[in-house]
Amino acid sequence: MSDTDQLVSGVLEGNRRALARLITRIESTRRDHRAEASDAITRLLPETGKSIRIGISGVPGVGKSSFIETFGLHVVEQGHKVAVLAVDPSSPKHGGSILARNPGAYVRPSPSSGSIGGVARRTRETILAVEAAGFDVVLVETVGVGQSEYAVADLVDMFVLLVAPGGGDDLQGIKKGIVEMADLLVVTKNDGDLQKAASRAFQDYTSALRMLRGGDDVWRPEVLRCSAHTGDGIPEVWARMEAFREAVQAAGRIDERRAEQAASWMWDEVTSTLLAEVRRKGGVGDKMEAAVRSGKRTPTDAAREILKQFDLGDL
Ligand code: GDP
Repeated sequence: MSDTDQLVSGVLEGNRRALARLITRIESTRRDHRAEASDAITRLLPETGKSIRIGISGVPGVGKSSFIETFGLHVVEQGHKVAVLAVDPSSPKHGGSILARNPGAYVRPSPSSGSIGGVARRTRETILAVEAAGFDVVLVETVGVGQSEYAVADLVDMFVLLVAPGGGDDLQGIKKGIVEMADLLVVTKNDGDLQKAASRAFQDYTSALRMLRGGDDVWRPEVLRCSAHTGDGIPEVWARMEAFREAVQAAGRIDERRAEQAASWMWDEVTSTLLAEVRRKGGVGDKMEAAVRSGKRTPTDAAREILKQFDLGDL
């Protein structure tokens, strides 16, 4: 059996070591590793796609790690297998958590370097890998800093935004576009002294959603409350996620969305690979950049000059 054969059959058996090895290959910058990973993923493809992919975002401190921990354990208790992935190189590690030690869960921190775009690109393959290994709920976590949410929304079936207790008048500095993207808003820390503030946030976000008029007859975004500390509201969050999945699946939207994502993934790969090649081989690139910066050439003219070397100068 070749290495790749072993990798593929190991992953299909749900062997964690094989899964970790495949993900390491996916994240590797070595071409031969990536090629091996790509080959393995292609062979695993028939066993992928059976999970619900959920993006979870929120500003630092909102309670993401705590939520994922409590929520993940709840979902595992319901008999599911939960994988937790992260797309921000800076996101907190869950390595020591109780969830990470649970046999029903697989927690993979984000690679510690690379751009969000680059990490998100690899995360697409990692999602397929964990699905092939039998995980049927995939949580993709991102720190809400503005850019990564869009990358994550492109990877998942459902986008969940966590918001903190307190007045939501100014939407807590969260960009309107990100609130608009959310299929579910979850107010965290609904316990003890924070309960009042949580209910204020609940009301403010409920009216904000009403004003945004997002969604349609298939699904309208909702606001929920929970506490990761007491576990209150956590089963309801999962129940609404399942309701979301049922509603959009019945309408054919999950397949539609995934098809759309797969097509844009392909073009994204083409674009980024081409660009990397052009930068690597485009010897005149630096010269042209300097000429553009100093105003000696127009950007259009300089771009043509670079592309000429690839027989693309006529474009
Ligand atoms: P992250 O930065 O979004 O991952 O947030 P963390 O999960 O690390 O939580 C940030 C802070 O909020 C920590 O001090 C947590 O103890 C606290 N926190 C998180 N969840 C809850 C909760 O359900 N209730 C309360 N009262 N505090 C919480």
